Amino acid sequence: MNCKGAYKSKISRKLRKYSNILKEAHNVEISETDTEFLAICNAGLTTGLSREIIMEALDETHVAALKDIHFVENTSVTFLTCVNAGFAMSVLKALNEDMHCDFFVVFVKNIPEFALHSEASLPAGLILLENFVSPEEEIALLKSVDWTSATPEQGQSLKHRQVRHFGYQFEYGSNNVNPEKPLDAKIPSVCSPVFDRVVQREITAWVPDQLTVNQYEPGQGIPPHIDTHSAFEDPILSLSLESDVVMEFRKSGVVVPVLLPRRSLLVMSGESRYAWTHGINPRKSDVVNCPDGKLSLVQRKRRTSFTFRRLLRRACTCTFSQFCDSQKENDVLSRENISNNCNETASKLENLHVHQVYEEIAGHFSETRHKPWPNVLSFVNKQVPGSVILDVGCGNGKYLGLNKQSFQVGCDMSQHLLKICREREFETFLSNCLALPFKDNSVDCCISIAVIHHLSTEDRRLKAISEMVRVLAPGGEALIYVWAKNQERDQQKSSYLKQCNNKPSEEKPAPISPFSLPVHTNRTQFCHSDLLVPWKLKQKGLKNSGLDSRESEEVYFRYYHMFEEGELELLCNRLNNASVERSYYDQGNWCVVLKKVL
Ligand code: MN
Ligand code: ZN
Repeated sequence: MNCKGAYKSKISRKLRKYSNILKEAHNVEISETDTEFLAICNAGLTTGLSREIIMEALDETHVAALKDIHFVENTSVTFLTCVNAGFAMSVLKALNEDMHCDFFVVFVKNIPEFALHSEASLPAGLILLENFVSPEEEIALLKSVDWTSATPEQGQSLKHRQVRHFGYQFEYGSNNVNPEKPLDAKIPSVCSPVFDRVVQREITAWVPDQLTVNQYEPGQGIPPHIDTHSAFEDPILSLSLESDVVMEFRKSGVVVPVLLPRRSLLVMSGESRYAWTHGINPRKSDVVNCPDGKLSLVQRKRRTSFTFRRLLRRACTCTFSQFCDSQKENDVLSRENISNNCNETASKLENLHVHQVYEEIAGHFSETRHKPWPNVLSFVNKQVPGSVILDVGCGNGKYLGLNKQSFQVGCDMSQHLLKICREREFETFLSNCLALPFKDNSVDCCISIAVIHHLSTEDRRLKAISEMVRVLAPGGEALIYVWAKNQERDQQKSSYLKQCNNKPSEEKPAPISPFSLPVHTNRTQFCHSDLLVPWKLKQKGLKNSGLDSRESEEVYFRYYHMFEEGELELLCNRLNNASVERSYYDQGNWCVVLKKVL
């Protein structure tokens, strides 16, 4: 077959495949004539594309042709509505050209009903009041904050933004305030007219006593979080100044982007305050719905937010106990539930405490992951020339590109880590290790280094291993590394323990989480089998901010299942199409080499 023929048959294969997916999963038919509706299908992606990725692949004229982007949760398909069929054709061409070959854009006859309305309503209790302050008040408010000097209690330069506290300090380690320690810096008096308006309009019955001012440069953001229940009253008020921004609200898989216009007041009350996370994607632009019904990509400017809160001087008695630090004992998503093969809970846990965390810490994580472990390196290097080597959970690509005589490809769930891989010119794709988008018997060798311990049930860990074996060619080998619960062996401490700096132990940070899992103290032995390991994102103060000598940090929590001796082999032995060739302990990890039976 000539080149063009091969290409054509590849296209028609894809067309058949996606036509089935679209029909069965979404009740949508591929259209043979041009329509205003497009479907973007993707092989490896389980979450669809982000709206920003789609918008960035298009130029201005194409963007102007878009009326809406429709997401369907937990699928690999994203739908677009264009102004008309002609524009849709140009969008289709642009996307098929610009994106990787893993994407496939087709005309469809309709958009699935549920995708049309998925983002229509705001979270309950969320109120947005536009033009809450005048342009003059905006200037006065901005002037009241001195960014050049601050005491350590009052100001910090965090990873994503600059911060000033007034009234009381919000402590990021504990995510709480100490009511016994008011700051010398009082809330600036220019805020009084704002408070009067808030009380007058019966938004609150009280006047705030704590103010946090955040300054975000374009590209900076704040990770999704719920403000600690026990720290503040309901509601929380936030004024946006200097720039519009899109804030994302999330709850059980639903993402609601909300445009916060400059000079608007956001009131987070009830469910939106207690049960939804809010966060700002660290991006330089936002996708915004225009009054004419089209979408546009708007560049962010520097934004300053004034968040007004009132300290809660008692336990929280909200009705959202699963998110409530005051009501942790009543936690419905208890550990028993997690180990109870409950897939939905497990995937929520992994999403919150693995996928979202790696997305946030990707840059810093990558900086700390350079040196390949020698035993993994020698395994990769001993593969015969021409082998296809798949790295499941490739992270920043530490093990890709090592064996120049083989074809190495990696997958991961973090877009940011994959971006780092792409910059290093490695072949990668986005995929969950529970469903590898590869045919049976299609790769010669697999490695999975420090991945399977992030899965929160035994069934899921087994599924991940069985997926690797499924895609392996008969006789092919997989190397698997997981963290060992025991970090000491033959009286030897692992390198993880050796890096203990013996600093006096700090206060344990409290995760914002519906899952009541124990928090591990870094660089110590593991006391639990399922736990959260803190990742401290350190950030030097920005130059010229007056804070350049200090470090500040935000803490993220990664879920781990710690393996006992023999546990990994036992799991592998449950597969009838693979055998454990070798197992060993390597610097605090349990490791197996698994061979697919011929
Ligand atoms: Mn907040
Ligand atoms: Zn509460």
